[in-house]
Amino acid sequence: MVIKPKIRGFICTNAHPVGCEASVQEQIEFVKKKGPIDGPKNVLVIGCSTGYGLASRITAAFGSGAKTLGVCFEKEPSEKKTATAGWYNTAAFHKAAKANDLYSKTINGDAFSHECKQQVIDLIKSDLGSVDLVIYSLASPRRVDPDDGTVYNSSLKPIGNTYTTKTFDTSKKLVHDVTLEPANQDDIDNTIKVMGGEDWELWMKALNEAGVLAENCRTTAYTYIGKELTWPIYGHATIGKAKEDLDRAASALNHSYSDLNLKAYVSSLKAVVTQASSAIPVMPLYISLMYQVMKDEGCHEGVIEQIYGLFNDLLLADNPPVDEAKRLRMDTVETNDEIQSKIKQKWELVTTENFDELGDYAGYHLDFLRLFGFGIDNVDYDADVDPMVGWS
Ligand code: NAD
Repeated sequence: MVIKPKIRGFICTNAHPVGCEASVQEQIEFVKKKGPIDGPKNVLVIGCSTGYGLASRITAAFGSGAKTLGVCFEKEPSEKKTATAGWYNTAAFHKAAKANDLYSKTINGDAFSHECKQQVIDLIKSDLGSVDLVIYSLASPRRVDPDDGTVYNSSLKPIGNTYTTKTFDTSKKLVHDVTLEPANQDDIDNTIKVMGGEDWELWMKALNEAGVLAENCRTTAYTYIGKELTWPIYGHATIGKAKEDLDRAASALNHSYSDLNLKAYVSSLKAVVTQASSAIPVMPLYISLMYQVMKDEGCHEGVIEQIYGLFNDLLLADNPPVDEAKRLRMDTVETNDEIQSKIKQKWELVTTENFDELGDYAGYHLDFLRLFGFGIDNVDYDADVDPMVGWS
């Protein structure tokens, strides 16, 4: 099959197995080049197949030599249709781990379900004994309650008032105003159900009850805090309320498992192009302008740079610096006043006509294509490739 990108709105509906493997390999090379991290040995990554979770898995395995157990929710390939990118990324990760004598197993299933948690626990018991780091990196639009089957959908809505802002339509290539209707209480509650801390707590409870959390275990969930430009649609919006709930959950986890000396953190990461962020209104425009500013200033970072820095400087340290809500902050270069004021200046001026000049949409779009294994150097996109790639 010759595989070319099929883009529909903010999503690409196919993926390239060779390109995904090359992009996973690039992240592995980055970590190997940076050097070893004295870190965890048995790591569970929930949401391991793309974005920040994949970078976490790669950093744990290739930075600290950790055995990794991953959980993701990806579609396998058929003879006619490619798998999702996360499927191919996972296959590539397994291949590279095997070549480096590193244990890796992945469960492809619904992380919110009791069954998935039990499968993970059984594997930890049989293969690892316990885990000393749990990364919670799920980004999902919906959650099925594991007890009563209720389906909760998250939403990306402002809170309080209707909000009008600039956005960039990636299909029509237009900068235009968009008006977003405010959330009602159900929207807020449902988003907290999906993206808040409840499921993170359920995971830690199940792992603890099964006796598979190692003493001094660390766990982190990821957040985005941002600044004024993104607060109305992120930090102070429905998703921000869910992220606030992570802060509550981290504090509860630290309290509940103090006998294990468990340390639970929310880690705030910078905005990057991932499947999750490209679905958020305003983000493609904000990220394009921010990329341009940060590249001009020589401080641009992607997922692997952020996660390597998090592991090396903060997450595994004995007493890492934390902010007022006890979060670890990897986003301070993006959110500092100087960078933000440069982004704001561009934001005020940006139109469809000057967007390419003021922003780095080319960089944004390339990162977007790369999520699906396209746009990667030295990959022959005219070649016939077998989509039926898997892992054991
Ligand atoms: P992503 O879309 O790249 O990854 C999501 C992961 O979750 C994938 O591995 C997917 O398979 C998995 N997943 C989704 N639903 C699942 C389910 N039901 N069961 C099992 N696995 C499931 O997202 P991302 O951008 O890397 O986001 C990860 C975390 O990082 C999120 O909490 C997000 O809010 C946070 N974050 C993202 C950004 C950003 O700019 N992308 C910035 C800061 C923080």
